[in-house]
Amino acid sequence: MSADSDTAVSSLSCANCGKPAQLQCPKCMELKLPREDSAFCTQDCFKASWSSHKSVHLKAKLSTFGIGIPGEKNSDSLSEGWLYCLKKGQARTPKLPHFDWTGTLRPCPISSKRIVPAHIDRPDWADDGNPKVEPNSDLQHVVEIKTSDQIQKMRETCRIAREVLDAAARVIQPGVTTDEIDRVVHEATIAAGGYPSPLNYYFFPKSCCTSVNEVICHGIPDARKLEDGDIVNIDVTVYYKGFHGDLNETYFVGNVDEESRRLVQCTYECLEKAISIVKPGVRFREIGEVINRHASMSGFSVVKSYCGHGIGELFHCAPNIPHYGRNKAVGVMKAGQTFSIEPMINAGVWRDRMWPDGWTAVTADGKRSAQFEHTLLVTDTGVEVLTARLPASPNVFPWLSS
Ligand SMILES: [Zn+2]
Ligand SMILES: [Zn+2]
Repeated sequence: MSADSDTAVSSLSCANCGKPAQLQCPKCMELKLPREDSAFCTQDCFKASWSSHKSVHLKAKLSTFGIGIPGEKNSDSLSEGWLYCLKKGQARTPKLPHFDWTGTLRPCPISSKRIVPAHIDRPDWADDGNPKVEPNSDLQHVVEIKTSDQIQKMRETCRIAREVLDAAARVIQPGVTTDEIDRVVHEATIAAGGYPSPLNYYFFPKSCCTSVNEVICHGIPDARKLEDGDIVNIDVTVYYKGFHGDLNETYFVGNVDEESRRLVQCTYECLEKAISIVKPGVRFREIGEVINRHASMSGFSVVKSYCGHGIGELFHCAPNIPHYGRNKAVGVMKAGQTFSIEPMINAGVWRDRMWPDGWTAVTADGKRSAQFEHTLLVTDTGVEVLTARLPASPNVFPWLSS
């Protein structure tokens, strides 16, 4: 970069050293930023302050970015969604960062952070984005055996989470934005008296994850409209009376091609088959064997970077449950344990890449990925699916209607 000479700057002083200014940052002039912040005495001073000065350009772009987005009322807070990404050191800037996008999907603007009413009980990351109890808990190493009281609370929360996911599933159709899905999840969760666990969890900016097409998981709801032929996973976690309940499903948007239908059904079956082996005495590592066998039989691959997890008073804790074959998961299942199984199955290669936003995991080859998740309880005789479908759940999977 180099600064432009401008006779009008002479009355200003250098933003770096305070000497009389001779130059003005061309980028700042282009963005019409305050002249006193963009004046420098020499090219050397300009270059010396470049690493800190350039953030002025980004902030300026972010603050103007909300203007002109259709349907977005709060343009000021719209930029917060982007700024959040900066907190992780990763930019979801108006100008797309350089990235070797693996497929055709691109990030779109993120709406303002949604409000949770004060009367709703919040997890410890709700205010500052940092979980405090969770990372330091013994339950990261020891798998908790829950009491009947804890189990009853898990049942309640998981049922709410199911109803919230079902509400989101009902609004899926071409033209609906993933941000609108997020609004439905947020409002349904609050209406039930719960807090949407993902909201501000390590600064995640939204109340659920929406993962479209090549997105494996942790997609951020944004202004992109669902298109006919898309597949979209919605991952919901609710925090209610001190307990988390977590589930997800992958839905068809309009008319979906045969290969994608096969992928989604196979992923559903992978979860069903995995659940069918759950009972006391079974090794956690067996879950991956069952899933891998079914996925590879259909010509699909299993994601390795993201796993199932223990859940309860903590969102994520022991055990860690890989979904791929020949994994090294330790331990055997015992009655009273609660954990999720959530296989992510890819149409192509198993490898994942991360978008520059620090959250969105996509397939390395840009082909599609599907996922299903339940929160489970190991019982004396087998398993109870705490997030099971309800009689009122929308009938959206062709293989479930006889
Ligand atoms: Zn989960
Ligand atoms: Zn989940």
